[in-house]
Amino acid sequence: MTAPSSAIQSTLVENRVFEPSAATVAAARISGMDSYHALCAEAEQDFEGFWAKRAREHLSWHKPFTQTLDSSNAPFYQWFADGELNASFNCLDRHMGTPVENKTAIIFEADGGEVTQVSYKELLAKVSQFANVLKSKGVQKGDRVVIYMPMTVEGVIAMQACARIGATHSVVFGGFSAKALEERINDAGAVAVITANYQMRGGKELPLKAIVDEAITQGDCKTIRNVIVFQRTPTAVNMVEGRDSFMHEEMAAQSDVCPAEMVGAEHPLFVLYTSGSTGKPKGVQHSTGGYLLWAKMTMDWTFDLKDSDIFWCTADIGWITGHSYVAYGPLAAGATQIIFEGVPTYPNAGRFWQMIEKHKCTIFYTAPTAIRSLIKACDSDEKLQPKNFDLSSLRILGSVGEPINPEAWMWYYKHIGGERCPIVDTFWQTETGGHMITPLPGATPLVPGSCTLPLPGITTAIVDEMGNDVPNGSGGILVVKKPWPSMIRTIWGDPERFKKSYFPEELKGYYLAGDGAVRSEDRGYFRITGRIDDVLNVSGHRMGTMEIESALVAKTDLVAEAAVVGRPDDLTGEAIVAFVVLKGQVPTGEDAKKLANELRNWVAKEIGPIAKPKEIRFGENLPKTRSGKIMRRLLRSLAKGEAVTQDTSTLENPHILDQLSQSN
Ligand code: ATP
Ligand code: MG
Repeated sequence: MTAPSSAIQSTLVENRVFEPSAATVAAARISGMDSYHALCAEAEQDFEGFWAKRAREHLSWHKPFTQTLDSSNAPFYQWFADGELNASFNCLDRHMGTPVENKTAIIFEADGGEVTQVSYKELLAKVSQFANVLKSKGVQKGDRVVIYMPMTVEGVIAMQACARIGATHSVVFGGFSAKALEERINDAGAVAVITANYQMRGGKELPLKAIVDEAITQGDCKTIRNVIVFQRTPTAVNMVEGRDSFMHEEMAAQSDVCPAEMVGAEHPLFVLYTSGSTGKPKGVQHSTGGYLLWAKMTMDWTFDLKDSDIFWCTADIGWITGHSYVAYGPLAAGATQIIFEGVPTYPNAGRFWQMIEKHKCTIFYTAPTAIRSLIKACDSDEKLQPKNFDLSSLRILGSVGEPINPEAWMWYYKHIGGERCPIVDTFWQTETGGHMITPLPGATPLVPGSCTLPLPGITTAIVDEMGNDVPNGSGGILVVKKPWPSMIRTIWGDPERFKKSYFPEELKGYYLAGDGAVRSEDRGYFRITGRIDDVLNVSGHRMGTMEIESALVAKTDLVAEAAVVGRPDDLTGEAIVAFVVLKGQVPTGEDAKKLANELRNWVAKEIGPIAKPKEIRFGENLPKTRSGKIMRRLLRSLAKGEAVTQDTSTLENPHILDQLSQSN
């Protein structure tokens, strides 16, 4: 990387440019911008041919496909539909008899620092054994299985074992409450839950199995026949006779050979629920063939993966990043990867740097929220500063989950990457299955805060409300013009909502990402400007405002109405502020504090501790338009403590703004 061409410190006008070094370019899989443009041109000239060629190259097919893309029932696109394959076969069996067979697949570092390693061959044996366990419980191809597990090798084994027998998994993040779990179990109609007795986070033992029990009982989850429990810690848990069993006991009784069940390319590999910005969480359904193809290809392209790399994606398997870049992509690509349990700040905020040093990590992929909190921690403790660790093994850095602000980018670039490592700022979504817009480490000149350009074959564009292209420099709506193999197939059980949410009529059949974006005038680089709808991002955990509002209003004995907005927060990115109208009087003083606490705990129980509002304000009403819509833009100003400068003439009840501007 060469020195910045200038150093204007602004998020809007960003003139710093970092070119990849000649050596990086020379050694890269996609080497230089000419190669990038050549691939883009290839995809443009023969779109289906481009994808068909790669699908044959990157995946092992049990039965080859004859048709690449079927658009006859758009937007329910099908890719490689008459082909047959198995995702787990492609991640494991495919490497047997090659040098990857004995390569380390996973380096696992537990919360307490203990390290275990598993080779590809060993992983195949364990996945097969557990797949046999699932079969012995009567789990069949097409059944849904909910996975509610901590970050462990066993979490990956559970996912791979489902894929192996053709069961569709739905991983629920281990921080979600019983209520959230129950909703997802019932929506998916799952037949089994795979969980752990406890999970370890920051030296604390936190329950998982007890929450599963609560979810199944309270949610009356009739479809659940079995609960399989990974014994993470020695602590005993309640086991229900005939329904529950331990993973290790079951596995010991099974053979470690289990032929992979071949499925059609469109067979649902998994359903993953997004945070649910519009109320009920959406079960995003992904395919087997198209999804796996892109998870594998983006490992090669975005991360420029080499045989010798030690790859580390810090995401939890409960999020899409943990699916594509922990459970599937790295294994399909035959990479050695690090998986870590716990939190980045335990035993101290130097954990990431220490792990990079210890395991000689070469590619490190994390979220801006983690970077921001570690910057803060390093500022306050000299010993935790990255300069105290040997980070020279690193060659590529990645960012995902939200826009990375240019100053955090610069810190990451300088202090972690030693001004040597390209940063791939990858824009993508649960729905896209894999990266969409991202720099290529050996080609793209980097601009802090910009995800730069779409990958070859990906047709992102910025349009106005009618679907017409807007010129560079003007903001607009981010869309994808043509389908791509790893795209969402439908919303589980709700095809109408799928069409309405992602392919609105006025947008000419384009995929609507839901984010706003702008392209730079000079390079045409994309920068994501924010959501079209309202989603909160607290410490990298995304929640729809609607979900929290719905939870508050569900406290029917107390709450009449609620509106939730985000307020910028140095540490967590965004903090949740809730405006609540109670059924009774507007409380004041100690009463207000007590009620606010009660409601905060209620939300934690309903959704999870991450959804707890930081502040709750009470008022006799909410600011509304005359048609009855809550004016969130005003509430956002109030939450920030700003004077309201917006036009309030359409407001039905302007006097309540005074009331809501005060904290309790
Ligand atoms: P929901 O769809 O339920 O509202 P969500 O969109 O927060 O949930 P994800 O699919 O995990 O859930 O997140 C995708 C979103 O994250 C993108 O739409 C975008 O807003 C943001 N995002 C992800 N990566 C980047 C990035 N590199 N730069 C900017 N924004 C990003
Ligand atoms: Mg989204």
